[in-house]
Amino acid sequence: VFNFNPGPSTLPLSVLQEAQNELIDYRGCGMSVMEMSHRSKDFEAIVHSAENTFKELAGIGDDYRVLFLQGGASLQFDMIPMTFLQEGKSADYVVTGSFAEKAYKEAKKIGTVKAAANLAEENHRRIPQQDELELDPSAAYVHITTNNTIFGTQWHYTPQTNGVPLVADMSSDILSRPMDYNQYDLIYAGAQKNLGPSGVTVVVIRQELLKQVPETLPSMLRYDLFAKNDSLYNTPPAFGIYMIDLMLEWLKDAGGLEAMGRHNMEKAALIYHAIDNSNGFYSGHAAKDSRSQMNITFRLPSEELDKAFIQEAAAQNLTGLKGHRSVGGMRASVYNAMSREGCQKLADFMTEFQKKNG
Ligand code: PLP
Repeated sequence: VFNFNPGPSTLPLSVLQEAQNELIDYRGCGMSVMEMSHRSKDFEAIVHSAENTFKELAGIGDDYRVLFLQGGASLQFDMIPMTFLQEGKSADYVVTGSFAEKAYKEAKKIGTVKAAANLAEENHRRIPQQDELELDPSAAYVHITTNNTIFGTQWHYTPQTNGVPLVADMSSDILSRPMDYNQYDLIYAGAQKNLGPSGVTVVVIRQELLKQVPETLPSMLRYDLFAKNDSLYNTPPAFGIYMIDLMLEWLKDAGGLEAMGRHNMEKAALIYHAIDNSNGFYSGHAAKDSRSQMNITFRLPSEELDKAFIQEAAAQNLTGLKGHRSVGGMRASVYNAMSREGCQKLADFMTEFQKKNG
């Protein structure tokens, strides 16, 4: 089936096959990665490979560490303010959707935070422009969500923060397009959309920031301890990290971020084209200049048609298209591993469905 679920989502068949081939005997070592000591040379090699390949793909150097943690992106909503919101400091959050709001609300429990912009009144149809952001030059950090999984919007510029550290939740668009990762000081993402299976959170952190981690924080919440121990402070989600390593190799073989960015743009364009050429039968949720290349949100003229669309699509092996209840309608999630063929098939189905019901 073509799996348009927002996450966990589809993985490349070749990656699944490679994992299948190595499931019982990982590269001649006589056991599965699931059975291997995380202190073994073989597993250490996997963690190092994943960190290095990530850095190579993102174009970042040794001033960054890439950590593999647990607790999902949601734990980062807490770890970030617990680490950086020292007494007297405040942080700026750009609230562009549901997860951005969750991050903001969690941080509020921990310290002082301000909403630098919040377009909830416009039902988060668009990303605010730079001049709409009310940024405090003395903030501890600015937090953004580069892709809004539920509303289907995406940042197409990097906000200028005048030296204030920039923190980004990239859960739903990490490594999906070329961008200057060096403009960010901390990036985090649950792996389950673009990077692999659920259970691992990737955190990319500028080494300089590790010095700010308070020693009084519980150890499991300390980025510096995970960095010092190469993500092996305690037993890591080993199989998930191995899958991420395979995914990163796959992405490198596919031509890296330049090629993936082009591929993703073309894929998304097929579906947006079906929306824009439907004479209003399909209406997109996101403003055109804020459209996401990862999550495409659109509505049909009625809820009956929504239901019929989902049913008939599923019968053609197009699954996971139901939108989130806060937006309604449909959502097609087309992360890195979704093929162009899948997007073409959905676009063709949309055109056919409109002909029958429009
Ligand atoms: N942030 C974004 C942008 C997401 O899309 C999601 C989940 O879909 C999350 C955070 C929450 O991630 P997790 O379930 O890994 O905690």
